[in-house]
Amino acid sequence: MTGTDRMGRVRAAMGEAGVSALLLSHGADLPWLTGYRAMPLERVTLLVLPLEGDPVLLVPALEAPRVPAGGAFEVRPWGETEDPLALAVALLGPQSGSTLAISDRAWATTVLGLQDRLPEARFLAASTVTSPLRAVKDHAEIATLRAAAAAADRVAGQLQAGLIPLIGRTEADVSAEIGRRLLAEGHQAVNFAIVGSGPNGASPHHEAGPRVIGPGEVVVCDFGGSLSLGPYTAPQGSTVGYCSDITRTVVTGPPTPEVAAAYAVLLESQQAGVAAARAGASAESVDAACRTVIGEAGLGDRFIHRTGHGIGIEEHEDPYLVAGNRLPLACGHAFSVEPGLYFPGRFGMRLEDIVVVGPEGPEALNTADHALVVVEA
Ligand code: ZN
Ligand code: ZN
Ligand code: ZN
Repeated sequence: MTGTDRMGRVRAAMGEAGVSALLLSHGADLPWLTGYRAMPLERVTLLVLPLEGDPVLLVPALEAPRVPAGGAFEVRPWGETEDPLALAVALLGPQSGSTLAISDRAWATTVLGLQDRLPEARFLAASTVTSPLRAVKDHAEIATLRAAAAAADRVAGQLQAGLIPLIGRTEADVSAEIGRRLLAEGHQAVNFAIVGSGPNGASPHHEAGPRVIGPGEVVVCDFGGSLSLGPYTAPQGSTVGYCSDITRTVVTGPPTPEVAAAYAVLLESQQAGVAAARAGASAESVDAACRTVIGEAGLGDRFIHRTGHGIGIEEHEDPYLVAGNRLPLACGHAFSVEPGLYFPGRFGMRLEDIVVVGPEGPEALNTADHALVVVEA
């Protein structure tokens, strides 16, 4: 799907949803549709895309040089003394009293300002229109996700091979090294590098800190970045990358029988989740597949989060693998499968791969060793 195809599909979805104009500001919808990612400045960036008529990108004048040339939209830079919301209202014209879909990540000031000027309009979240389209990745997007996963896998492999020493270093230090290696392996940006050692591993989103990693500890490493291949790279530095996200848990010495037994359950759970990720199966059935294995082992209360999240330009996007989400999985859906077990005050463990639903079944993009690897370094 090229940018023009996307525009056509967005317009069709707008028509079905009764949306007369789409207003894209910050967030991933704009780069997905146009190749341009707006800096999260306080200044207003807004693509005004009417159901009929040409789209216009309102962009702060000083940002205009970053907008890729040749886009399927007109660029209207606004100067420092102009009122961008007044320009948006003028562009909407007769559509200003109808249903408008605005970026989920637009600043509240932008939304409130528009609501104030357009008292007749009804506002929806742009994701109502864009999210089902964005969730299904095309070939180029899957190729980029695959390249990002391979780059993250190389770092995971370095971790498991003991090339990133753990014992005697702080989590923060290890996290910084993982970040440097994500860049060295081809990512343009590091999004996060969680290193949770010993008891800190029991907090799923623990922020790597001053704790010094000791021998014989369980260490959860969950990291990812953004990587852009050719097609979505804009000429002047605006890149639209796709995310990697992998978790591998290692031990800095032979695991205790309790840790080894829990990890065996985790591995079986994660494999069951990946196997369940087939076209036609519901999103919640993948969560159930992971949870059943853990529940049957008597560890159900240790798995305290949903099984996974969609991934693309954003680290977390639709579809979410969680009880209650009956969405049928379709070819091109890409998401994490990441069950975890958390023992407060003691240790935690998680195993995460990115999986794409394909015509022949699930494809796990991450292939780094899934075993509980002992890193005695
Ligand atoms: Zn997470
Ligand atoms: Zn992760
Ligand atoms: Zn994740």
